[in-house]
Amino acid sequence: MTDHRPSYHIWTVGCQMNKADSARLGAELEGRGYIPAPSPEEADIVVLNSCVVRQSAENRVLSKLSSLKALRRSRPQALIALTGCMVDGNLAELERRFPHVDSFFRPQDFYPFLSHVQPSGEAPVVSTTELKVCEFVPIISGCDKYCTYCIVPYRRGRERSRRLEEVVCEVERLAARGVREVTLLGQNVDSYGHDLPGRPDLAALLDALNGVAGLARIRFLTSHPKDMTDRLIQAVGTLDKVCEHVNLPFQAGDDDILRRMGRRYTVVQYRDLVARIREAVPGVCLSTDVIVGFPGETEEQFLRTVSILEEARFVTVHVAAYSPRPGTAAARLSDSVPTSEKKYRLQIVETLQEGIVAEI
Ligand code: SAM
Ligand code: SF4
Repeated sequence: MTDHRPSYHIWTVGCQMNKADSARLGAELEGRGYIPAPSPEEADIVVLNSCVVRQSAENRVLSKLSSLKALRRSRPQALIALTGCMVDGNLAELERRFPHVDSFFRPQDFYPFLSHVQPSGEAPVVSTTELKVCEFVPIISGCDKYCTYCIVPYRRGRERSRRLEEVVCEVERLAARGVREVTLLGQNVDSYGHDLPGRPDLAALLDALNGVAGLARIRFLTSHPKDMTDRLIQAVGTLDKVCEHVNLPFQAGDDDILRRMGRRYTVVQYRDLVARIREAVPGVCLSTDVIVGFPGETEEQFLRTVSILEEARFVTVHVAAYSPRPGTAAARLSDSVPTSEKKYRLQIVETLQEGIVAEI
């Protein structure tokens, strides 16, 4: 028998936060009686969860948006929505550029969007997410750091932490359903709690979650070096369920570039932090993010990034060529490193990292 329930399709590009938002949106729609559809053409609700952190991601979203024009013509009754970091405050401009999209909502306006979705009238489906063993749990949204190259603070707003008790309750519920591993998410996950009464920190949250029955592993992403405290390092070293893994983006290995990126730490401070983590957490796996070709980055400055990579020996390096983002402070600087040079620097980092990983 064919299932005539209404269906949804979510297309996602970008970071873990976007993937987690999409998973939550899917679970909410399933709670309203919708079933997942394998393609936009078969769905009643189509949501694009976008990323504009780099031009390459934005291009993918634009191409997907353009492909939905045919769907608009063939299925005028389908609801097409756009969310994620492409949605800024200027809805009129988005409506003008993409008239075939019915609804635009910022990631932080998830629930107002859902309030416009008609419940299907059918019983909720058994969510596929309930069967998962690993789950992402966002604990802090937004970003207050305003690194000069980054669009995220303009699109995701100020940092907002979820209450500690609320996160613990959610993880308890997940563990009771068979989830064994949770990854706590935030653009700056280690600044968790500074905006809450009593200012609980990530170390306190990890400590509370370490006691959740049935849960085996806890991870967290992404840490800003400036917010990584000794308390947090101790928590990673001592709490048995917390995985010995820290993603600690350094972005650039030169103080002048770091200052112009607005990163708020120096190379010496970063190296010292890595040493303290390695000492307190034996066998720790460190990963990082790096940008090559920031405006004005000389060959010499780039080689300082290479030195840190050689020295710290990360298990994973997410490397990207600098991409100017309109509206950010760095976009006012001349994008002076030629594309060919950015590609060359990318390749050097990738080749070096492949060698390090092979050795590890
Ligand atoms: N909050 C984290 C941090 O402080 O590093 C990372 C979040 S950011 C959305 C993810 C990564 O995208 C960054 O670490 C950076 O390497 C990269 N990124 C952000 N803006 C970029 C840009 N304009 N060009 C190239 N890479 C960029
Ligand atoms: Fe972007 Fe910097 Fe915030 Fe990370 S800390 S999300 S790179 S502004």
